[in-house]
Amino acid sequence: MNLSPAARAVFVELLLHGPLSRAEVARRLELSPSVLTKLTRPLLQSGYLVEEPGPSGVPGRPSVPLRVDHGRRAYAGIKLTGTELFAVRTDLGAAVTAEVRLPLDGHDVAYVVDRIAAAVAAVSAGDPPAAVGVSLAGTASRTDAVVHRSPFLGWHGVPLASLVSEATGLPAVLENDVRALTAAVHWFGAAAGHRTFALVTVGEGLGCGIVVDDRLVAGTAGVSGQIGHLSIDGSGPICERGHRGCARAYVAAPSIRRSARAALDRPLLTFDQALGLARSGDLVARRIFDEAGLALGRIVATIANLIGPEVVVLSGETVHMHEVCAPAFEAALGEHTHWTSEPVEVRVQPFAFTEWARGAAVVALRHDLGVP
Ligand SMILES: [Zn+2]
Repeated sequence: MNLSPAARAVFVELLLHGPLSRAEVARRLELSPSVLTKLTRPLLQSGYLVEEPGPSGVPGRPSVPLRVDHGRRAYAGIKLTGTELFAVRTDLGAAVTAEVRLPLDGHDVAYVVDRIAAAVAAVSAGDPPAAVGVSLAGTASRTDAVVHRSPFLGWHGVPLASLVSEATGLPAVLENDVRALTAAVHWFGAAAGHRTFALVTVGEGLGCGIVVDDRLVAGTAGVSGQIGHLSIDGSGPICERGHRGCARAYVAAPSIRRSARAALDRPLLTFDQALGLARSGDLVARRIFDEAGLALGRIVATIANLIGPEVVVLSGETVHMHEVCAPAFEAALGEHTHWTSEPVEVRVQPFAFTEWARGAAVVALRHDLGVP
């Protein structure tokens, strides 16, 4: 969308907080009524904004609520893993209107780009989205077109955004998967309305997205939020990089599976089976999840001490483990929060795998609106 900075501010305010009356938008953005009328007129004419007059309202009056017509524009979001590709189509309000899941039989760049184009076509049904967002684990950010490094795909320096754009004929933008999810949590999820927060994801890995003063922090070449190998205990279990007692070695699902299988001598135990054992009081499984909770509490306290967030949101594929390890988590959060502060408010956002692709679609939406 081609919006002036002032029109963009009005549109985003209504997208995130609408319906709002013109008078309320003018108050929030410190604009005069006449300036606001001038800014909203083209958006009303093009159908992006609609009036909700209600039974007694008169169209055009400052008190009549305005809202964004979410169906007016669509986005495609893609999440790449080492073995699969998930794609969703969303509207302007990030509601998922179509989804598709395709296997990836290799990591050849041209093949993956071809699969991305096929997925975008599959969720578009002949009506192309305004932009495509692609997210993946690795160092990438929306400010450049290159995947600097993706361990799962074995890629270095792949100009994926321009390749996807060429293949689909649509604007394309990349983002690290955790940061893409952070963008969705910021605008449409558990941190909506907050200006400074962190998202911590638990699952196959351990990730962190940071928003400070409403800006998604990417860091140099997209490497911010690398909490996976923070040291927790120098005598703890060993991670796949050879660190003893790092965060991943306690919290990531593969480490928990490994510890539970070894300690219980059950080589086929799944993560959820181990969690079930802990829930039902098995002492060994209980200890493993308590230690995961202690590590996670310490990590969240460390992040809170560094950035001073209003809230920390926990999510990711295995966030349901929080219910079992909450006492240990709370204890460690309290212990490691700086003594001058209160422990940060923690919100658990339940997770579905399509959330990753939805995050990529929100990155496409923000790119389309020109929001950093
Ligand atoms: Zn490690």
